[in-house]
Amino acid sequence: MYKKIILLLILTVFILCGCAKAKKEPVANTLDDITKRGNVIIGIKTDTYPFGFKDKNGKYAGYDIDLANLIGESIFNEKGKVKFVPLTASDRMMKLFSEDVDMVIATMSVTPSRLQIMDFSDPYYIAGQSVLVKKGSKIKGLRDLNGKKAIIVFGTSSESSLRAAVPNVRIVGYKTYDEAVKGLKQGKADAIVSDDTILIGLSLKDGNLVLLPKRYSREPYAVAFRKGRESEDLVRVVNGVINESSRNGTLQKLQKNYGIKKY
Ligand code: GLU
Repeated sequence: MYKKIILLLILTVFILCGCAKAKKEPVANTLDDITKRGNVIIGIKTDTYPFGFKDKNGKYAGYDIDLANLIGESIFNEKGKVKFVPLTASDRMMKLFSEDVDMVIATMSVTPSRLQIMDFSDPYYIAGQSVLVKKGSKIKGLRDLNGKKAIIVFGTSSESSLRAAVPNVRIVGYKTYDEAVKGLKQGKADAIVSDDTILIGLSLKDGNLVLLPKRYSREPYAVAFRKGRESEDLVRVVNGVINESSRNGTLQKLQKNYGIKKY
């Protein structure tokens, strides 16, 4: 009996040690790890033309995708080393934190609350929030949304800024911009509030939608990383790409090609 108990104890300790070893080690996605892996995994959007979308051939395209490719080229000195992971405004932070991606390039504004939980590169574009309505709408600006319904996409900076600017607005949330447009067209709300850059894209695709001219915020877009020392080298490389591409006119050329101007 005594022997049996000792054996059982040894077995338990053995199993516990084994389990501890099998436990997933935290992945440290340093620049070094990425170089060794042989590709960089970047989260991008597909519902925000012209920043992130799928072209006629189903290929990822847009300003954010071009920047991602420049970053891939700078890390590996060759093209085709970026693995793209599609995400939305509502799941982009989760995908970053759960280590599905090394970084996120997804029309993401730097905000004080995001800075507490993420690291950001230097800004690569400045947008501003605006209002999209149906043609003939009586809404002529943000204030007219008082007592009305406005659509936001979950996980965007529009929700808090809209609540602060128009306390009596009723907010309707959707997961993607495609759903948001459908909601607006079906009369589920009076307007969509989001970045001008994204709303311009939506209005270009649909002649029945109108973008109001005024901008209500400053939205600096930057590349997002997990917070911590592991990201330091990555942030440095990405900042190098952004600053060099801005100096040599590459970013300006891309902005011109996509018809986007800095706010
Ligand atoms: N720039 C805004 C944000 O970061 C909106 C971006 C988006 O909808 O993709 O929340």
